[in-house]
Amino acid sequence: MIAARFFSIKNWEKFVNIKQELIELKEQRLDFQRRVDDLAEKLKLEAEKREYLEYEITKLGRLNTIGQLAAGLGHEIRNPMTTIRGFLQMLQSKSDLHTYKSYFELMIEELDRANLIITDYLSLVKDKPVEFKRLCLNKLLDDIFPLILADAYTQGKKCVFEPGKIVELEMVSNEITQLVINLARNGFEAMPPEGCLTINTYMDAQSIILSVKDEGKGIDKEHISKLGTPFFTTKENGTGLGLPMCYRIADRHNALIDVKTGPDGTTFLVRFPKPIE
Ligand code: ADP
Ligand code: MG
Repeated sequence: MIAARFFSIKNWEKFVNIKQELIELKEQRLDFQRRVDDLAEKLKLEAEKREYLEYEITKLGRLNTIGQLAAGLGHEIRNPMTTIRGFLQMLQSKSDLHTYKSYFELMIEELDRANLIITDYLSLVKDKPVEFKRLCLNKLLDDIFPLILADAYTQGKKCVFEPGKIVELEMVSNEITQLVINLARNGFEAMPPEGCLTINTYMDAQSIILSVKDEGKGIDKEHISKLGTPFFTTKENGTGLGLPMCYRIADRHNALIDVKTGPDGTTFLVRFPKPIE
């Protein structure tokens, strides 16, 4: 009887020890599982980052090749166009051709539009060395805001600018002006009358961010990957050169453009890296 009790207490101790070991093993297993989950999450993020970078690289590569080709072409086409425009203007003023006046006007308008496309394209692909200066983005936005407001008013839309606390940036002011105007114009064009465009600036640990937010219908899912491709447009009179220009300018400033879009509108975020002091 005593031996049996003794035996069972020993067994009990063994049982407790095993149980303890089991608990520890279970904790270790959970710990391993957590680490595996963490690593899997990190891996997923890295894969997404890689996919995004590959996409950006392809886009930039495509932009470069097409750009160089078109730059040469653009220059060549402009000269004969100027000649044609001159003759059209001369013919337009002839009294015996007065009945065709509206046709001449239309032809000249179309030529001017073609010229505008070429001008936009050339400024997109120009690779002239430009001067970077340390400037305040808020000051630049303040200066060009009347221009943006004028754009808004002609379309019956509103626009607000909310400057945040940011540090100065190395930039080429007329390029950034062009970028903001292009993003703002797209925002206005995407909104119904009375819509309001919000431009604001802020800072996080790594970047200075310029945000241009509209209250439009958003961008169709199948169009998102095409943003920034030269000549991609969904507008009847669009050139599809505004965004490529923005991407190009952002790239020259080592900035990245993020797009957030949904049925309530679209936000373009331009992230400039914080300058090293
Ligand atoms: P364009 O304005 O001449 O069409 P862009 O390069 O500026 O050329 O824009 C290309 C296309 O991207 C537009 O036609 C439009 O479909 C889409 N897009 C750009 N910005 C916006 C926006 N804020 N909201 C909705 N769609 C947009
Ligand atoms: Mg545009």
